[in-house]
Amino acid sequence: MRRSRAFIPTTKEAPSDASLASHIYLSRAGFISQVASGLYSYMPLAKRVIKKIENIINEEMTKAGAEEVELSFVTPASLWQESGRIEKFGKELLRFRDRKENLFVLGPTHEEMMVDMVRNRVTSYKQLPINLYQIKTKFRDEARPRFGLMRGREFIMKDGYSFHASVADMDREFDAMEAAYKTILTRLGLDFRIVEADSGAIGGSGSKELMVLAGSGEDTIAVCSKCEYGANVEAAKRSGRVTIPEAPVAEFNKFKTPNVKSIEDLEEFFKVDGYYTMKCVAKRAVYEDDSEVVLFFVRGCDTLQEVKAQNATGALDIVDVSEEELRELGLIPGFIGPLEQGCAKHVIDIDLRDAKSMICGANEEEYHFVNVDMSVMSEAYYADIAAVNEGDICPYCNGTLSFTKGIEVGHIFKLGTTYSAVLKAEFLDENGKAQPFVMGTYGMGVSRLVAAVIEQHHDDKGCIWTKTTAPYMVNIMISNIKETPQVELGEELYAKLQAAHVEVMLDDRKERFGFKMNDAELIGFPYTIIIGKELENGLVQIFDRKTKESFSVSKDEVFSKIMDLI
Ligand code: ATP
Ligand code: MG
Repeated sequence: MRRSRAFIPTTKEAPSDASLASHIYLSRAGFISQVASGLYSYMPLAKRVIKKIENIINEEMTKAGAEEVELSFVTPASLWQESGRIEKFGKELLRFRDRKENLFVLGPTHEEMMVDMVRNRVTSYKQLPINLYQIKTKFRDEARPRFGLMRGREFIMKDGYSFHASVADMDREFDAMEAAYKTILTRLGLDFRIVEADSGAIGGSGSKELMVLAGSGEDTIAVCSKCEYGANVEAAKRSGRVTIPEAPVAEFNKFKTPNVKSIEDLEEFFKVDGYYTMKCVAKRAVYEDDSEVVLFFVRGCDTLQEVKAQNATGALDIVDVSEEELRELGLIPGFIGPLEQGCAKHVIDIDLRDAKSMICGANEEEYHFVNVDMSVMSEAYYADIAAVNEGDICPYCNGTLSFTKGIEVGHIFKLGTTYSAVLKAEFLDENGKAQPFVMGTYGMGVSRLVAAVIEQHHDDKGCIWTKTTAPYMVNIMISNIKETPQVELGEELYAKLQAAHVEVMLDDRKERFGFKMNDAELIGFPYTIIIGKELENGLVQIFDRKTKESFSVSKDEVFSKIMDLI
């Protein structure tokens, strides 16, 4: 491509709401154009990057035996009613009616559509397994679209769905997809981690997220210092503590604790480690048709993990409650404990099962119980609801957990029969018995990946594309287009590189060298061949965008040198 004819509208100004490097540079370097909140047009450079990512995905999916399809973007609302997800998805679903008043939804994900396509067409175990995928625009009316391509309302996703006759076969395919996703991200030149994820309300027997490591990531992941274990904090597990603080010595007693309202006050009052205090976090669990106050108990040194808490209740959402609401139920904020209290549902963290020497609220103004033995509450509902802390012990080895930030670029899921059962998608097994398909689902955020590459690869000048994602691999810069020898060499190299199938840009614009160089760095071509004054001595420079180093090569060797580099 000749830069003089290319549509690459670079600017000095970043969008006023842009805080992430990818949002700033993809806008400034002329890759994307915002049209409304969460809606972007892809300009030529972005389109090229997206195609590269899609090609790599297609190649790896084909190798793994998956087939590409394309499902309609407009999906009948009836399918969403059939699966029951029309309520669950709530306002993220964009609904509208056609001229005949039929209700439709813009597809935010395509489980229902894929199951609908396969049901009644695949009818025997002999036709299984199959794995179908598409790369397609999705629409989710996100509450807070932000960060450019990272969280758009319209975005591109690769979504795949596999159908199996048994759980064992689904497990095998899940592992194969994990391996394929690993290859895709490695080929894209990304530093990533595959972590255990929250399977959420959908259930299923397991899911993993693919996290691109970047300080700007929205997700916090816990990683082990010794083994491969990594998990989203929403799902992270830990082993019991190895060093336990010294227990307070006291008889079981109700103790007057004036003005002690917070957990910090309590620890100060009794001079005890937070390990021995019990914290109550009251929340309202919201279900489809009703809601209720739920009391979550964790150790004072721990914090409630809200996603775990939500899963433990099966609620669609958990929201805050006011002190007034608690008092109306007969609860005493600041002094709520699990003993002798039947006002609201409890969920107690598993780490508190059979805990001894505990201090907790006595459900009475200004009173706490001391030396509580939780084994008296062995019948209560215990669940893993506490967030892991940095320094906690890995659940698989004796390493310690630390936190790092990641961008979720993919999510693979063992669905089981969740959708096939409700949507009555069945096949006949070897004994002629009808069974729902056992399914897996595999998502990857294609447009989010474009942003993730830049979050991981940029500097203060702009984008640094990896070799497999770069919109153009080589930029040939003619420093001064009035110098005929410079132009001639530029044209010659341009023709030679094109003939060698190298994706090359020829910067033949009548602009100052400094301006063109800033542009090249902002866009992030991996290599720029600078044809300048040194040409008089038979030399040109090769500028490496990643290392920011330039070195001279003779004009006769530059072609072979570039071919070596790429
Ligand atoms: P998130 O937690 O970030 O909202 P999700 O769990 O809703 O993601 P999935 O439904 O698993 O995401 O979708 C599969 C993939 O699609 C995600 O891993 C992510 O890469 C991408 N994705 C999801 N929502 C968006 C969005 N609003 N903009 C861009 N990409 C997205
Ligand atoms: Mg989401």
